[in-house]
Amino acid sequence: MSSKFIMKSCPKYTFGVGDRFAHGAHAQLTAFIEAKKLGIDITPVWNKSNREHLIIGSEPIQTRQAADKAVADLGWSGEYLLDADHINFSTVDRFVAPCDFFTLDVADDIGEAADPADVEAFIAKHPELIGTLSIEGIAKPLEITRADVEKAANQFLKATQKAAAIYQHIVSAKGGTDDFVTEVSMDETDSPQTPPELLIILAAISDQGIPVQTIAPKFTGRFNKGVDYVGDVAQFEQEFNDDLAVIAHAVKTYGLPASLKLSVHSGSDKFSIYPVIKKAIQRTGAGLHIKTAGTNWLEEVIGLAEAGGDALELAKQIYAKALEKKDALCEPYATVIDINDANLPSAETVNGWTSEQYTSALRHDQSNPGYNPDLRQLLHVGFKIAAQLGDTYLDALKTNREVVSKNVTGNLLDRHMKPLFL
Ligand SMILES: [Zn+2]
Repeated sequence: MSSKFIMKSCPKYTFGVGDRFAHGAHAQLTAFIEAKKLGIDITPVWNKSNREHLIIGSEPIQTRQAADKAVADLGWSGEYLLDADHINFSTVDRFVAPCDFFTLDVADDIGEAADPADVEAFIAKHPELIGTLSIEGIAKPLEITRADVEKAANQFLKATQKAAAIYQHIVSAKGGTDDFVTEVSMDETDSPQTPPELLIILAAISDQGIPVQTIAPKFTGRFNKGVDYVGDVAQFEQEFNDDLAVIAHAVKTYGLPASLKLSVHSGSDKFSIYPVIKKAIQRTGAGLHIKTAGTNWLEEVIGLAEAGGDALELAKQIYAKALEKKDALCEPYATVIDINDANLPSAETVNGWTSEQYTSALRHDQSNPGYNPDLRQLLHVGFKIAAQLGDTYLDALKTNREVVSKNVTGNLLDRHMKPLFL
């Protein structure tokens, strides 16, 4: 079956970057330009979730303006996209005009009961899902019973119906045209989706008429913000490869867009699984969307700390405030951080630090004995503090543009793009 959909086609390798304070797009784009010189074609996707906009008090149009300006100033002739990240029916509207990539977040709808008649109709429509399923690329055939399909339909059908409603809403708000990339995300939930569940979800998404080009399942293991993967790498590898095989199968079987690929959320800094991902995409020729965001803001703080003087003082002030407001800052991110309070230095200790001590603690270099992943996660969710500092923070970014940019670009290029794609 060839694809039944007409939409803006998503490039093979897309890389999401977050520009929380709309001052980092140039440094971020520089990483893509450098990667291109090395022969890696990656399309930048500027993503900013509704949650981040609310915390910072910004508007999606500002992200668009910063991205457009960076592209114009640096003469980027490749594609680039703007992602309305983790939106739903009630939050999508202000993203419609500036965005051309929409991440429909239906994680909260998982488990909500669909109409029993819809569940029955789904099962009746998909006899091919039941029984022994040989899928190219998966050694052991999947065994799926009618009860499994029913259970998965009860778990996920409603969520796909909601995704369809958001998708249709965007299309009509865009004047009836589908000139955007659609992602469906289910990552911010408690339990990972298995490869058979992913197959059933994709069948349902196709039935709902959503031209999904990237799908973000919840993978096994912990994807904490800004730090390395925590989990069983071998199990992740198995699951990731099975998911790739399921996607290729679903594209053929259900006429989904040929560009459909996996999206890895909280994808920054997951250094221990990058070799696995790289091997899998190189072996299969599959595409990849990797989403990063806060890792970029942390590089801004690292740059300020490295600059010394007033900028280092500001970085210390941000840490002290973040520590003071820790509970409130962590609350919206509870499922995606793991901070051991005992490992957080006091504000007094940090106030006595040199530039090198601060950057050693914060920079994600696991070989540095000073590296502190607990401090890193706290600062990751601490961007609200910088937002509250307003112009003081933004002026510091401007004054120290060179050292901040060096860190932002280097982090993306050397610690992320090269290990994933080169
Ligand atoms: Zn996500």
